Amino acid sequence: MDDEQWRVQVDRRTCIGSGLCTAIAEGHFTLDEGRSRPTAEVIAPEDAVLDAAEFCPVEAILVRAAGTRTVLAPQP
Ligand code: SF4
Repeated sequence: MDDEQWRVQVDRRTCIGSGLCTAIAEGHFTLDEGRSRPTAEVIAPEDAVLDAAEFCPVEAILVRAAGTRTVLAPQP
């Protein structure tokens, strides 16, 4: 079901290429031309991806419920 999956986005204009997300959520992000992108846009829930969104220094990562689009991270 869609509601059980998450949608991961990286704003590549905001990302500063720190690589933190690739370390925190290994396998979920990759650096491409100095900017991060998710390795998959829709994923099974994985707490490390929430952590990556919370710890991104510029809040470039957005994690939402795939079905409802409720924002899961970063928390406001
Ligand atoms: S943690 Fe944020 S700024 Fe750093 S590479 Fe990932 S998305 Fe970009």
